[in-house]
Amino acid sequence: MNLNSGGGIIAAVVNPTAEGRLEYFDRAYLLWDGNGVITYFQSEPPPLEQMAHHEILLRENRVVLPGLIDLHTHLPQYEFAGIGTDELLPWLERYTYPQEARFCDDKLAEKASAAFFQSCLKNGTTTVVAYLAPFLPAAHTAFAAAEKANLRAYLGLTLMDRNVPATLVTSVAQAERNLVELLQHYHGKGKLQLVVTPRFAMSCSPDLLSLCGEFSRAHNLFLQTHISENPTEIAETLRLFPNCKSYAAVYDSHGCLHERTLLGHGIHLSEEEIALIRERAAVIVHCPLSNTFLGSGIMPYQRYRAQGLRLGLGSDVAAGYALSMLFEARQMVEVSKLLSRFSGKDERANMEQAIFQATLGNALALERPDLGSFALGKRADLIVIDDSLCDPLLGMARNAYHTLPERLSRIFYRGHPDMVREALVDGKVVFAAGS
Ligand SMILES: [Zn+2]
Repeated sequence: MNLNSGGGIIAAVVNPTAEGRLEYFDRAYLLWDGNGVITYFQSEPPPLEQMAHHEILLRENRVVLPGLIDLHTHLPQYEFAGIGTDELLPWLERYTYPQEARFCDDKLAEKASAAFFQSCLKNGTTTVVAYLAPFLPAAHTAFAAAEKANLRAYLGLTLMDRNVPATLVTSVAQAERNLVELLQHYHGKGKLQLVVTPRFAMSCSPDLLSLCGEFSRAHNLFLQTHISENPTEIAETLRLFPNCKSYAAVYDSHGCLHERTLLGHGIHLSEEEIALIRERAAVIVHCPLSNTFLGSGIMPYQRYRAQGLRLGLGSDVAAGYALSMLFEARQMVEVSKLLSRFSGKDERANMEQAIFQATLGNALALERPDLGSFALGKRADLIVIDDSLCDPLLGMARNAYHTLPERLSRIFYRGHPDMVREALVDGKVVFAAGS
Protein backbone atom coordinates (compact mmCIF):
# COMPACT_ATOMS: atom_id res chain seq x y z
CA MET A 1 0.00 0.00 0.00
CA ASN A 2 1.20 3.51 -0.82
CA LEU A 3 2.08 5.10 2.53
CA ASN A 4 0.18 8.25 1.67
CA SER A 5 -2.96 6.48 0.53
CA GLY A 6 -5.85 5.84 2.84
CA GLY A 7 -7.62 2.62 3.60
CA GLY A 8 -11.03 1.35 4.48
CA ILE A 9 -13.18 -1.61 5.37
CA ILE A 10 -16.71 -2.71 4.53
CA ALA A 11 -18.19 -5.06 7.14
CA ALA A 12 -20.77 -5.46 9.90
CA VAL A 13 -19.64 -3.06 12.63
CA VAL A 14 -20.38 -2.79 16.34
CA ASN A 15 -19.61 0.68 17.68
CA PRO A 16 -19.64 1.77 21.34
CA THR A 17 -21.23 5.17 22.05
CA ALA A 18 -20.28 7.79 24.62
CA GLU A 19 -23.46 6.93 26.55
CA GLY A 20 -22.14 3.42 27.15
CA ARG A 21 -24.37 1.68 24.59
CA LEU A 22 -23.53 -0.13 21.36
CA GLU A 23 -24.63 0.82 17.84
CA TYR A 24 -25.06 -2.01 15.33
CA PHE A 25 -24.38 -1.59 11.60
CA ASP A 26 -25.19 -4.63 9.46
CA ARG A 27 -23.01 -3.06 6.81
CA ALA A 28 -20.83 -0.04 7.40
CA TYR A 29 -18.25 1.85 5.38
CA LEU A 30 -15.26 2.93 7.43
CA LEU A 31 -12.50 4.96 5.74
CA TRP A 32 -9.28 6.40 7.08
CA ASP A 33 -6.51 8.57 5.70
CA GLY A 34 -2.84 7.67 5.28
CA ASN A 35 -2.19 8.54 8.92
CA GLY A 36 -4.88 6.18 10.19
CA VAL A 37 -7.37 8.92 11.06
CA ILE A 38 -11.02 8.07 10.33
CA THR A 39 -12.48 10.22 7.55
CA TYR A 40 -15.81 8.46 6.91
CA PHE A 41 -18.10 6.18 8.94
CA GLN A 42 -21.63 5.53 7.67
CA SER A 43 -23.99 2.72 6.73
CA GLU A 44 -24.33 4.41 3.32
CA PRO A 45 -21.42 4.16 0.88
CA PRO A 46 -19.26 7.27 0.42
CA PRO A 47 -19.13 9.06 -2.96
CA LEU A 48 -16.90 7.09 -5.31
CA GLU A 49 -14.35 9.88 -5.56
CA GLN A 50 -13.82 9.71 -1.77
CA MET A 51 -12.81 6.05 -2.13
CA ALA A 52 -10.17 6.77 -4.75
CA HIS A 53 -6.63 6.01 -3.54
CA HIS A 54 -8.03 3.92 -0.70
CA GLU A 55 -7.24 0.24 -0.31
CA ILE A 56 -10.61 -1.16 0.73
CA LEU A 57 -10.90 -4.44 2.65
CA LEU A 58 -14.15 -6.26 1.87
CA ARG A 59 -15.10 -8.25 4.97
CA GLU A 60 -18.78 -8.82 4.43
CA ASN A 61 -19.15 -11.93 6.59
CA ARG A 62 -17.09 -10.56 9.43
CA VAL A 63 -17.86 -8.47 12.50
CA VAL A 64 -15.65 -5.46 13.18
CA LEU A 65 -15.11 -4.07 16.67
CA PRO A 66 -12.79 -1.30 17.87
CA GLY A 67 -9.43 -2.72 18.97
CA LEU A 68 -9.69 -4.00 22.54
CA ILE A 69 -7.85 -2.21 25.33
CA ASP A 70 -6.29 -4.07 28.27
CA LEU A 71 -5.76 -1.72 31.20
CA HIS A 72 -3.89 -4.09 33.52
CA THR A 73 -1.65 -7.05 32.75
CA HIS A 74 1.81 -8.48 33.46
CA LEU A 75 4.13 -9.35 30.56
CA PRO A 76 6.56 -11.69 32.41
CA GLN A 77 3.73 -13.76 33.86
CA TYR A 78 2.16 -14.83 30.56
CA GLU A 79 4.12 -18.10 30.42
CA PHE A 80 2.42 -19.50 33.51
CA ALA A 81 -1.13 -18.28 32.95
CA GLY A 82 -3.55 -20.91 34.18
CA ILE A 83 -1.17 -22.46 36.72
CA GLY A 84 -1.54 -22.42 40.49
CA THR A 85 -4.57 -22.17 42.73
CA ASP A 86 -3.28 -20.38 45.82
CA GLU A 87 -4.47 -17.08 47.20
CA LEU A 88 -2.58 -13.92 46.29
CA LEU A 89 0.43 -13.86 48.64
CA PRO A 90 1.47 -17.55 48.44
CA TRP A 91 0.79 -17.44 44.67
CA LEU A 92 3.19 -14.50 44.30
CA GLU A 93 5.87 -16.35 46.28
CA ARG A 94 5.44 -19.68 44.54
CA TYR A 95 4.98 -18.64 40.91
CA THR A 96 5.26 -14.93 40.20
CA TYR A 97 8.53 -13.96 41.86
CA PRO A 98 10.53 -16.97 40.53
CA GLN A 99 9.08 -16.37 37.03
CA GLU A 100 9.91 -12.66 37.04
CA ALA A 101 13.45 -13.51 38.22
CA ARG A 102 13.93 -15.54 35.03
CA PHE A 103 13.75 -12.29 33.03
CA CYS A 104 17.34 -11.44 33.98
CA ASP A 105 18.13 -13.87 31.14
CA ASP A 106 18.17 -11.56 28.11
CA LYS A 107 17.37 -14.27 25.59
CA LEU A 108 14.36 -15.45 27.55
CA ALA A 109 13.18 -11.86 27.99
CA GLU A 110 13.47 -11.23 24.27
CA LYS A 111 11.56 -14.34 23.25
CA ALA A 112 8.86 -13.89 25.90
CA SER A 113 8.35 -10.19 25.07
CA ALA A 114 7.87 -10.85 21.36
CA ALA A 115 5.45 -13.70 22.09
CA PHE A 116 3.49 -11.59 24.58
CA PHE A 117 2.79 -8.69 22.22
CA GLN A 118 1.93 -11.04 19.35
CA SER A 119 -0.49 -12.80 21.71
CA CYS A 120 -2.06 -9.46 22.64
CA LEU A 121 -2.78 -8.77 18.97
CA LYS A 122 -3.97 -12.33 18.33
CA ASN A 123 -6.45 -11.82 21.16
CA GLY A 124 -7.65 -8.55 19.63
CA THR A 125 -5.87 -6.22 22.06
CA THR A 126 -4.45 -3.22 20.19
CA THR A 127 -3.65 -1.12 23.28
CA VAL A 128 -2.07 -2.71 26.34
CA VAL A 129 -1.02 -1.38 29.74
CA ALA A 130 1.48 -3.81 31.25
CA TYR A 131 3.81 -4.39 34.16
CA LEU A 132 7.30 -5.54 33.10
CA ALA A 133 9.95 -7.57 34.92
CA PRO A 134 12.01 -5.55 37.43
CA PHE A 135 15.21 -5.46 35.32
CA LEU A 136 16.28 -2.56 33.12
CA PRO A 137 17.61 -4.71 30.22
CA ALA A 138 14.34 -6.69 30.17
CA ALA A 139 12.42 -3.39 30.08
CA HIS A 140 14.47 -2.21 27.08
CA THR A 141 13.73 -5.53 25.39
CA ALA A 142 10.00 -5.19 26.08
CA PHE A 143 9.76 -1.64 24.72
CA ALA A 144 11.64 -2.73 21.58
CA ALA A 145 9.33 -5.73 21.12
CA ALA A 146 6.22 -3.54 21.54
CA GLU A 147 7.52 -1.09 18.97
CA LYS A 148 8.14 -3.94 16.55
CA ALA A 149 4.66 -5.38 17.13
CA ASN A 150 3.20 -1.96 16.28
CA LEU A 151 0.57 -1.92 19.01
CA ARG A 152 -0.03 0.87 21.54
CA ALA A 153 1.89 -0.03 24.67
CA TYR A 154 1.92 1.64 28.07
CA LEU A 155 4.71 -0.17 29.93
CA GLY A 156 6.29 0.05 33.34
CA LEU A 157 9.34 -1.50 34.96
CA THR A 158 7.94 -3.12 38.13
CA LEU A 159 9.52 -1.45 41.17
CA MET A 160 10.01 -3.25 44.52
CA ASP A 161 12.46 -2.64 47.35
CA ARG A 162 11.26 -4.85 50.19
CA ASN A 163 9.43 -8.07 51.08
CA VAL A 164 10.41 -9.79 47.82
CA PRO A 165 13.40 -12.03 46.89
CA ALA A 166 16.67 -10.04 46.83
CA THR A 167 17.14 -10.53 43.06
CA LEU A 168 13.96 -8.52 42.40
CA VAL A 169 14.88 -5.55 44.58
CA THR A 170 15.65 -2.15 43.04
CA SER A 171 16.95 0.59 45.34
CA VAL A 172 15.22 3.97 45.32
CA ALA A 173 18.27 5.62 43.71
CA GLN A 174 18.47 2.94 41.01
CA ALA A 175 14.72 3.13 40.43
CA GLU A 176 15.01 6.84 39.74
CA ARG A 177 17.90 6.31 37.30
CA ASN A 178 15.94 3.58 35.53
CA LEU A 179 12.85 5.77 35.24
CA VAL A 180 14.87 8.65 33.79
CA GLU A 181 16.52 6.35 31.25
CA LEU A 182 13.24 4.77 30.10
CA LEU A 183 11.51 8.15 29.97
CA GLN A 184 14.20 9.54 27.68
CA HIS A 185 14.37 6.49 25.45
CA TYR A 186 10.73 5.61 24.94
CA HIS A 187 8.08 7.90 26.37
CA GLY A 188 6.02 9.38 23.56
CA LYS A 189 8.10 7.60 20.93
CA GLY A 190 5.65 6.28 18.35
CA LYS A 191 2.95 4.38 20.21
CA LEU A 192 4.99 3.82 23.40
CA GLN A 193 4.37 5.34 26.82
CA LEU A 194 6.18 4.88 30.15
CA VAL A 195 4.09 4.02 33.21
CA VAL A 196 5.47 4.41 36.75
CA THR A 197 4.92 0.99 38.35
CA PRO A 198 5.32 0.33 42.07
CA ARG A 199 4.02 -3.28 42.33
CA PHE A 200 1.96 -2.74 45.49
CA ALA A 201 2.44 -1.03 48.82
CA MET A 202 3.66 -4.20 50.55
CA SER A 203 6.71 -4.44 48.28
CA CYS A 204 7.59 -0.73 48.41
CA SER A 205 9.25 1.39 51.10
CA PRO A 206 7.74 4.81 51.85
CA ASP A 207 10.68 6.39 49.97
CA LEU A 208 10.06 4.30 46.86
CA LEU A 209 6.35 5.19 46.88
CA SER A 210 7.23 8.87 47.28
CA LEU A 211 9.60 8.67 44.31
CA CYS A 212 6.84 7.08 42.21
CA GLY A 213 4.31 9.73 43.21
CA GLU A 214 6.72 12.60 42.52
CA PHE A 215 8.08 11.19 39.26
CA SER A 216 4.64 10.45 37.80
CA ARG A 217 3.40 13.95 38.68
CA ALA A 218 6.55 15.74 37.49
CA HIS A 219 6.38 14.08 34.05
CA ASN A 220 2.61 13.71 33.79
CA LEU A 221 2.88 9.92 33.56
CA PHE A 222 0.41 7.18 34.35
CA LEU A 223 1.12 5.29 37.57
CA GLN A 224 -0.10 1.71 37.94
CA THR A 225 -0.27 -0.36 41.09
CA HIS A 226 -2.53 -2.77 42.99
CA ILE A 227 -4.92 -2.04 45.82
CA SER A 228 -7.20 -3.96 48.18
CA GLU A 229 -7.16 -7.30 46.38
CA ASN A 230 -6.97 -9.76 49.27
CA PRO A 231 -7.76 -9.46 53.02
CA THR A 232 -4.32 -10.76 54.11
CA GLU A 233 -2.61 -8.29 51.77
CA ILE A 234 -4.70 -5.44 53.21
CA ALA A 235 -3.85 -6.37 56.83
CA GLU A 236 -0.15 -6.67 56.00
CA THR A 237 -0.16 -3.29 54.21
CA LEU A 238 -1.73 -1.56 57.22
CA ARG A 239 0.86 -3.21 59.50
CA LEU A 240 3.70 -1.91 57.28
CA PHE A 241 2.28 1.63 57.17
CA PRO A 242 1.03 2.15 60.76
CA ASN A 243 0.55 5.89 60.28
CA CYS A 244 -1.94 5.45 57.45
CA LYS A 245 -5.63 4.96 58.12
CA SER A 246 -6.32 2.85 55.05
CA TYR A 247 -4.75 1.18 52.01
CA ALA A 248 -5.86 4.07 49.77
CA ALA A 249 -4.40 6.52 52.29
CA VAL A 250 -1.00 4.78 51.96
CA TYR A 251 -0.87 5.70 48.27
CA ASP A 252 -2.39 9.13 48.81
CA SER A 253 0.06 10.11 51.53
CA HIS A 254 2.95 9.31 49.15
CA GLY A 255 1.54 11.28 46.22
CA CYS A 256 0.52 8.19 44.25
CA LEU A 257 -3.21 8.90 43.92
CA HIS A 258 -4.02 11.19 41.02
CA GLU A 259 -6.08 11.26 37.84
CA ARG A 260 -3.49 9.17 36.00
CA THR A 261 -3.36 6.43 38.62
CA LEU A 262 -4.58 2.97 37.57
CA LEU A 263 -5.42 0.89 40.65
CA GLY A 264 -5.79 -2.83 39.97
CA HIS A 265 -8.62 -4.65 41.82
CA GLY A 266 -10.02 -2.42 44.61
CA ILE A 267 -12.33 -5.20 45.78
CA HIS A 268 -12.59 -4.57 49.52
CA LEU A 269 -12.50 -0.75 49.76
CA SER A 270 -14.19 1.10 52.62
CA GLU A 271 -16.58 3.98 51.95
CA GLU A 272 -13.87 6.37 53.11
CA GLU A 273 -11.41 4.94 50.59
CA ILE A 274 -13.98 5.13 47.79
CA ALA A 275 -14.54 8.81 48.59
CA LEU A 276 -10.78 9.47 48.58
CA ILE A 277 -10.19 7.67 45.26
CA ARG A 278 -13.14 9.51 43.70
CA GLU A 279 -11.83 12.84 44.93
CA ARG A 280 -8.40 12.13 43.41
CA ALA A 281 -10.10 10.93 40.16
CA ALA A 282 -7.96 7.77 40.09
CA VAL A 283 -9.18 4.77 38.06
CA ILE A 284 -10.03 1.37 39.58
CA VAL A 285 -9.29 -1.43 37.13
CA HIS A 286 -11.61 -4.41 37.45
CA CYS A 287 -9.89 -7.78 36.85
CA PRO A 288 -12.67 -10.36 37.32
CA LEU A 289 -10.90 -13.44 35.88
CA SER A 290 -7.99 -12.90 38.24
CA ASN A 291 -10.31 -12.24 41.16
CA THR A 292 -12.10 -15.56 40.72
CA PHE A 293 -8.88 -17.49 39.97
CA LEU A 294 -7.21 -16.38 43.23
CA GLY A 295 -10.51 -16.36 45.14
CA SER A 296 -9.99 -12.68 45.98
CA GLY A 297 -13.64 -11.60 45.80
CA ILE A 298 -15.91 -9.70 43.44
CA MET A 299 -15.45 -6.01 42.75
CA PRO A 300 -18.85 -4.26 42.87
CA TYR A 301 -18.61 -2.68 39.41
CA GLN A 302 -22.14 -1.26 39.26
CA ARG A 303 -22.02 0.15 42.78
CA TYR A 304 -18.68 1.86 42.13
CA ARG A 305 -20.04 3.23 38.89
CA ALA A 306 -23.09 4.63 40.67
CA GLN A 307 -20.75 6.16 43.26
CA GLY A 308 -18.98 8.08 40.51
CA LEU A 309 -15.68 6.21 40.42
CA ARG A 310 -13.70 6.06 37.18
CA LEU A 311 -13.43 2.41 36.12
CA GLY A 312 -11.37 0.21 33.82
CA LEU A 313 -11.06 -3.46 32.88
CA GLY A 314 -7.90 -5.56 32.67
CA SER A 315 -6.82 -9.16 32.09
CA ASP A 316 -4.30 -9.26 34.96
CA VAL A 317 -2.40 -12.14 33.40
CA ALA A 318 -1.29 -14.49 34.93
CA ALA A 319 -3.74 -14.47 37.85
CA GLY A 320 -6.15 -13.75 35.04
CA TYR A 321 -5.64 -16.88 32.99
CA ALA A 322 -6.51 -15.42 29.57
CA LEU A 323 -5.17 -12.48 27.62
CA SER A 324 -8.49 -12.05 25.81
CA MET A 325 -10.40 -8.92 26.79
CA LEU A 326 -13.54 -10.57 25.41
CA PHE A 327 -13.14 -13.33 28.05
CA GLU A 328 -12.56 -10.63 30.64
CA ALA A 329 -15.67 -8.72 29.58
CA ARG A 330 -17.72 -11.91 29.76
CA GLN A 331 -16.40 -12.66 33.24
CA MET A 332 -17.31 -9.12 34.31
CA VAL A 333 -20.93 -9.86 33.40
CA GLU A 334 -20.98 -13.33 34.94
CA VAL A 335 -19.51 -12.34 38.34
CA SER A 336 -21.88 -9.36 38.53
CA LYS A 337 -24.83 -11.78 38.38
CA LEU A 338 -23.38 -13.82 41.25
CA LEU A 339 -22.75 -10.66 43.26
CA SER A 340 -26.37 -9.62 42.73
CA ARG A 341 -27.62 -12.97 43.93
CA PHE A 342 -25.52 -12.90 47.08
CA SER A 343 -25.87 -9.19 47.93
CA GLY A 344 -29.63 -9.12 47.30
CA LYS A 345 -29.13 -5.90 45.27
CA ASP A 346 -29.25 -5.55 41.53
CA GLU A 347 -25.54 -5.29 40.64
CA ARG A 348 -25.78 -6.95 37.22
CA ALA A 349 -23.68 -5.64 34.34
CA ASN A 350 -24.69 -6.59 30.79
CA MET A 351 -22.84 -7.46 27.60
CA GLU A 352 -23.15 -3.99 26.11
CA GLN A 353 -21.64 -2.38 29.20
CA ALA A 354 -18.81 -4.90 29.29
CA ILE A 355 -17.89 -4.43 25.63
CA PHE A 356 -18.12 -0.66 26.09
CA GLN A 357 -15.74 -0.98 29.07
CA ALA A 358 -13.19 -3.07 27.12
CA THR A 359 -13.14 -0.49 24.31
CA LEU A 360 -14.28 3.13 24.73
CA GLY A 361 -14.55 2.90 28.53
CA ASN A 362 -10.91 1.85 28.84
CA ALA A 363 -9.88 4.44 26.23
CA LEU A 364 -11.44 7.20 28.35
CA ALA A 365 -9.78 5.86 31.51
CA LEU A 366 -6.49 6.10 29.61
CA GLU A 367 -7.28 9.68 28.53
CA ARG A 368 -7.44 8.51 24.90
CA PRO A 369 -10.80 9.70 23.56
CA ASP A 370 -9.35 9.14 20.07
CA LEU A 371 -9.48 5.36 20.64
CA GLY A 372 -12.17 2.79 21.50
CA SER A 373 -14.89 3.65 18.97
CA PHE A 374 -15.36 4.81 15.39
CA ALA A 375 -16.05 8.46 14.54
CA LEU A 376 -14.52 11.12 12.34
CA GLY A 377 -11.12 12.17 13.60
CA LYS A 378 -10.54 9.07 15.73
CA ARG A 379 -7.84 6.46 15.13
CA ALA A 380 -8.61 3.43 12.94
CA ASP A 381 -7.74 0.73 15.51
CA LEU A 382 -10.00 -2.26 14.86
CA ILE A 383 -10.31 -6.03 14.92
CA VAL A 384 -12.02 -8.31 12.42
CA ILE A 385 -13.86 -11.31 13.88
CA ASP A 386 -15.02 -14.40 11.98
CA ASP A 387 -18.01 -15.51 14.03
CA SER A 388 -18.60 -18.59 11.89
CA LEU A 389 -15.68 -20.04 13.90
CA CYS A 390 -17.82 -20.04 17.07
CA ASP A 391 -18.84 -23.49 15.98
CA PRO A 392 -17.54 -24.51 12.54
CA LEU A 393 -19.66 -27.69 12.47
CA LEU A 394 -22.89 -25.82 13.13
CA GLY A 395 -22.01 -23.19 10.54
CA MET A 396 -23.63 -19.80 10.20
CA ALA A 397 -25.50 -20.29 6.93
CA ARG A 398 -28.18 -22.57 8.40
CA ASN A 399 -28.36 -20.76 11.69
CA ALA A 400 -31.55 -18.86 12.48
CA TYR A 401 -29.84 -16.55 15.00
CA HIS A 402 -28.07 -14.15 12.71
CA THR A 403 -29.03 -10.58 13.66
CA LEU A 404 -25.95 -8.56 14.58
CA PRO A 405 -26.83 -8.36 18.31
CA GLU A 406 -27.28 -12.16 18.28
CA ARG A 407 -23.98 -12.65 16.47
CA LEU A 408 -22.24 -10.38 18.98
CA SER A 409 -23.80 -12.29 21.88
CA ARG A 410 -22.50 -15.55 20.46
CA ILE A 411 -19.03 -14.03 20.02
CA PHE A 412 -19.23 -12.75 23.59
CA TYR A 413 -20.22 -16.05 25.21
CA ARG A 414 -18.79 -18.64 22.81
CA GLY A 415 -15.87 -16.74 21.35
CA HIS A 416 -12.24 -17.79 21.37
CA PRO A 417 -9.07 -15.96 20.29
CA ASP A 418 -8.83 -17.83 16.96
CA MET A 419 -11.90 -15.93 15.78
CA VAL A 420 -9.86 -12.71 15.67
CA ARG A 421 -8.65 -12.82 12.05
CA GLU A 422 -7.06 -9.38 11.74
CA ALA A 423 -6.03 -6.48 13.93
CA LEU A 424 -5.38 -2.98 12.57
CA VAL A 425 -3.68 -0.10 14.36
CA ASP A 426 -3.77 3.34 12.74
CA GLY A 427 -5.40 1.64 9.75
CA LYS A 428 -2.43 -0.69 9.17
CA VAL A 429 -2.74 -4.47 9.49
CA VAL A 430 -0.54 -5.46 12.45
CA PHE A 431 -1.89 -8.98 12.83
CA ALA A 432 -3.41 -11.36 10.27
CA ALA A 433 -4.31 -14.91 11.27
CA GLY A 434 -2.38 -17.56 9.38
CA SER A 435 0.14 -15.18 7.88
ZN1 LIG B 1 -1.86 -7.34 38.55
